[in-house]
Amino acid sequence: MRKDAVVRAAGIGILAVAVLGCTNYGLRLQELAPDCYVVYGEGGNSGVFFSDTAVLIVDTKMKQGAERLRRWVRSKAPHQRIYIINTHIHRDHSAGNHLYDDAVIMAGNYGEKFWNAVAAREDMPNRWLDDSLTWHWKREEILIYNVGQAHTYEDVVVYLRQRKILFAGDIVLNGYHPFLDEQVGASIAGYQRVLAELLQKFPLRWVVPGHGKAGSTELITSMQAYFKDMVEATMSPEQEMVARERYYGFSSLPINKAGFEQTLNFIRKSETLR
Ligand SMILES: [Zn+2]
Ligand SMILES: [Zn+2]
Repeated sequence: MRKDAVVRAAGIGILAVAVLGCTNYGLRLQELAPDCYVVYGEGGNSGVFFSDTAVLIVDTKMKQGAERLRRWVRSKAPHQRIYIINTHIHRDHSAGNHLYDDAVIMAGNYGEKFWNAVAAREDMPNRWLDDSLTWHWKREEILIYNVGQAHTYEDVVVYLRQRKILFAGDIVLNGYHPFLDEQVGASIAGYQRVLAELLQKFPLRWVVPGHGKAGSTELITSMQAYFKDMVEATMSPEQEMVARERYYGFSSLPINKAGFEQTLNFIRKSETLR
C-alpha cells in the first residue's frame, strides 16, 4: 500500500472512532425510543431502559461486552437502582449478572440446582419469576412475562407497553439459526406456540431479537416461517433443497451447535420421540 493510502486509511479509522463515539465504550447502540436502547452483540443483544430513579437491563452479555455494558449504563445512570431481567439461562445473556452489586436480578424459575448446572453460580438471579409481573415506572408500563418452554424451559420476554417494544430473547432471531439446546429444554412446538402468542398479544413498534438487528413484527413471522420451512424440509429432499437455499445466508452460532443441519436433526429427533 502506498504511503498516502496508508495515511488515508488511518484517517478513516480515526473518523470511524469519532463517529461511533468513545463514550459508548465501543458498544453498538440504537435508541429505539426516548430512554430506551438496544445494545447489540458481544453475547446476546441487551435492552436498556432508563427512568429518573431506576434502570432496567434486559440481558447482561458476557466477557468484555458485559463489562462495557455495565460501564456505559453506570456512566449514564450513576446512582439509579438497577433491575436486571434475564430472558433465559444461556451464558451469552446472563454472564454479566455478577458485575451488578445490589441489583434485583430476575429470570424464569429454573431453580438453583439447574442454574448451577448450566450457568455460573456467581450469575445466579436473586428472584425467580413463575408467571408475570407488571411494573409501573414513570410514563412506562413494563411487563415481564414468563412465556414458558420454547428456547429453554423458562423463557421470559419483556414488553414496554407505551413504547410498544418487545425484548424477545432467543425466541426471536434475525438472520441466525436458533441454538436448539436439548439440555435446557428447547422445543419446536413451544416456539410455535409462543411466537403465535406474541403476535396476538402485543401491539408492536419494535421487536428486539436475541441476536441480529431489531425490526418489526415481521421478525416474528419470519421465525414462524423458519420453523414451518424446516419441518417441511424433513419431509422430502425437494423441500430440503428449497429451505437450504432460503436460509443459506443465516449465521450458525454457536459454531457446531446451531445451523441448518442442527435444526433438521433436532426436528427429526423430536419427531421420533413423539
Ligand atoms: Zn443467545
Ligand atoms: Zn440462548
